[in-house]
Amino acid sequence: MILLTLETTCDETAAAIVNDSLKVLSGVVASQAKLHEIYKGVVPEIAARAHVERILPVIDETLKAADLTLDDIDAIAVANTPGLSGSLLVGLTAAKALCFAKDIPLIAVNHLHAHVYACQFASETPIYPCVGLVVSGGHTHLYHYESAIESRFLGGTIDDAAGEAFDKVASMLGLPYPGGPSISKVAVDGDKDAIKFPRSFLKEDRIAFSFSGLKTAVRYAITGPGKFDLDNVSLTPERVADLAASFQQAVVDCLVAKSVQAVEQCAAKDAPRRLCVGGGVAANRVFREQLKQQCELKNIELHFAALEHCTDNAVMGAIAVERFKAGLFEDMSLDILPGLIREPKAG
Ligand code: ATP
Ligand code: MG
Ligand code: FE
Repeated sequence: MILLTLETTCDETAAAIVNDSLKVLSGVVASQAKLHEIYKGVVPEIAARAHVERILPVIDETLKAADLTLDDIDAIAVANTPGLSGSLLVGLTAAKALCFAKDIPLIAVNHLHAHVYACQFASETPIYPCVGLVVSGGHTHLYHYESAIESRFLGGTIDDAAGEAFDKVASMLGLPYPGGPSISKVAVDGDKDAIKFPRSFLKEDRIAFSFSGLKTAVRYAITGPGKFDLDNVSLTPERVADLAASFQQAVVDCLVAKSVQAVEQCAAKDAPRRLCVGGGVAANRVFREQLKQQCELKNIELHFAALEHCTDNAVMGAIAVERFKAGLFEDMSLDILPGLIREPKAG
């Protein structure tokens, strides 16, 4: 079975071709980062328009790279949730049109579960059942997975996503968008203990994250308490590095602690001690190192997505192979679901 997967949930136009043994025949990602850079965040209307311009060339390039034509494709998968409405619509419409024209099945992909599935490409052994952490630009959520297609929501952020906090703090520090890579770069020269930033929920059993208070704390550390205006502030490169390192460490502490806690809680109900991490922030080097250390200490089997599969890509859409095997197909009434539909809370 040869699958074409499409990904247009946010600001990457991506397509990939994989077979049912998870061999990647080709994968193309057209990033729009340059278009959104000056706005320091993704502008939905610009993203949707850029997807319209790129989706067919990206599909063509993906087919060419695999030396295949549409006649060789047995099914098409598309991420239809969650994401930006206009962006999702472009991918879904392209997928439906191609399925209709070629009379092949359509498969729906949940973008967040796909971020976790990316770990399967970095592992020789099956990654399910597991606890999965999706830590990306729009989400910071923990799930328990029985299989690739059976998940329960364990808990997540009550406000900002970790990636969003990286992007906003980078903007406050005058660092380029996207914020994750630029903060981690300058943080190398900073002191992670220079400023004591808050870490939410660390002392509680509850599986939850909160990063908006941390964001405000960084702002006050830049401007001085009670002052909000960033315009007349000038920071030395040393101070920027200290702020970046201290902020990054606060985020990493929360991500590590809650992931380990989620695995422990699931293990108490006989789930395997296995953790899989995907999403853009999973590319963070300090996070990868510190989570690895903790998992070794706590006897947890840890899987990360490969660096090139952390941020948005279509290879991770191969989670549709599991839906194909389970006979889970869609008809032409499939719609986009921009907001996150939460799976029932784990009991
Ligand atoms: P979602 O998956 O929630 O819909 P998204 O698709 O926009 O959101 P991703 O593409 O998975 O998110 O990840 C992008 C985010 O990852 C950005 O917020 C970016 O700053 C962050 N990021 C990328 N690299 C790093 C890094 N090295 N350290 C920290 N954050 C990073
Ligand atoms: Mg993106
Ligand atoms: Fe994503």
